[in-house]
Amino acid sequence: MALEFSHEANQHPASEERRNEILANPGFGDYFSDHMVTIDWEGIGHEEGTWSNARIAPYGPISLDPAAGIFHYGQSVFEGIKGYRYSDGSVWTFRPHANAARLNRSAYRLSLPALPEEDFVNSLRELVRTDNAWVPSGDGEAFYFRPFMIATEAYLGVRPARKVQFHVIGSPAGNYFGTPEPVDIWLSTTYSRAGVGGTGNAKCGGNYAASMIAQAEGESHGCKQVIFKDPNRDDAIEELGGMNVFFVFGKQNKIVTPELTGTILEGVTRSSLIQLAKDRGMEVEERKFTLSEWREGVANGDITEVFACGTAAVVAPIGKLMAADFEIPAASVGFGEISKSLREELVGIQTGAVEDRHGWMVKLAD
Ligand SMILES: *Cc1c(COP(=O)(O)O)cnc(C)c1O
Repeated sequence: MALEFSHEANQHPASEERRNEILANPGFGDYFSDHMVTIDWEGIGHEEGTWSNARIAPYGPISLDPAAGIFHYGQSVFEGIKGYRYSDGSVWTFRPHANAARLNRSAYRLSLPALPEEDFVNSLRELVRTDNAWVPSGDGEAFYFRPFMIATEAYLGVRPARKVQFHVIGSPAGNYFGTPEPVDIWLSTTYSRAGVGGTGNAKCGGNYAASMIAQAEGESHGCKQVIFKDPNRDDAIEELGGMNVFFVFGKQNKIVTPELTGTILEGVTRSSLIQLAKDRGMEVEERKFTLSEWREGVANGDITEVFACGTAAVVAPIGKLMAADFEIPAASVGFGEISKSLREELVGIQTGAVEDRHGWMVKLAD
């Protein structure tokens, strides 16, 4: 049975004036709406337990015991999903059951409990109905939901926590990269974000913690993003710190993306773009794709575009690849035609401008 939510109104919400000021230029992840979702879990082992006390309460600090597991052993997973304001004022979201299922796969890997998919989707619904005024309506804008699950039990022994919380916070979001200009990316040859049997296919904070040093290395070379490869598999390209990657073979009407080997996060954007490309009659290959194929493909003109994808940025063109001792030039000048058109179609579906032929959209609020 689905959980019932209780509601405690924020007595000090942002003023309408302040909210409008924020919505005029929301940025990404800078501001948060007036309320948040919390659901408690208690159990033994991560497989047997109970979710309870689902609530909407004022957005604010979470008070935890200093011995809570999250602070020590990093038992935490998260999601990222957007709500879109349609022209009739209603709010919709994109494939929330895919995110709910992924949250549970991530949770399983981190020995955290599964949250029923229905409760996940209802928590988005409850938050957006409470904070509806925070959903922006501008072009390319959205309400970014950040669901996350953390170990809250105060216990320093090493075993799965017996107390856990699930939360959802929400943040108005502008266009993540503004007008998509190709970003140069840094190839880390020093660091990996994931290894065989590790947590690469779980959406957990630890993967991000491990990628930040490479990100800093990239930034010191003028690159905004980092891409990782697997030195043990012929330098197979994996993904960026928080986005999947695609190679467009324009003349062959084909796109290639690294196969899911367990070290790559399965993006909802990635799988949606694969579907849209197939719908267009494009050939889609999910396979091992090596650094030398990238180099040769750009050199001989087979690779005509390279792009990254994820919920936040949707589709972002990649410029040149830089590493400590070599470079691969950009495959295209500016935003490639195919990347751009796939982005437009996906954003069109998400914002209600293009027919939702796969039934991906779910209404959250009228
Ligand atoms: C979240 C994430 C992605 C993108 O997933 P989407 O579901 O498309 O947003 C890709 N790679 C990593 C490492 C991620 O954490």
